[in-house]
Amino acid sequence: MNIALIAHDKKKNDLIQFVVAYKPIFEKHTLFATGTTGLKIHEATSLPITRFQSGPLGGDQEIGAMIAKNKMDMVIFFRDPLTAQPHEPDVSALIRLCDVYAVPLATNMGTAEILIRSLEQGDLDWRNLVRGKEGE
Ligand code: PGA
Repeated sequence: MNIALIAHDKKKNDLIQFVVAYKPIFEKHTLFATGTTGLKIHEATSLPITRFQSGPLGGDQEIGAMIAKNKMDMVIFFRDPLTAQPHEPDVSALIRLCDVYAVPLATNMGTAEILIRSLEQGDLDWRNLVRGKEGE
């Protein structure tokens, strides 16, 4: 599965701890992330991660483009609901696209735990049937 990882600055440590805790599951999948989030997760876990631009510089939109091509199977996006973001429109657009394409999305640790356990159980295997093929 292709999994996108994004965390706003005050949530980055939470996401790093989450990926460390579930590393045995994450290492079976293909990981993508916005720039700084991806760098920090890679430093903490050594997992291979395809990194896009930093979120405020377009990284959220790059992940959105993968969703629009139906190539992203899950998005874990620890957003900070208490801090204004300069790229709030990009954040909203990314979440909206997850809803357009019915891509499983977790915006907090509670839901992320459920998603990652479901992934391990095979509950998301339906994504293998609907995911866009390479080149489409
Ligand atoms: P970052 O971007 O991983 O480059 O910090 C995340 C975001 O703010 O959307």
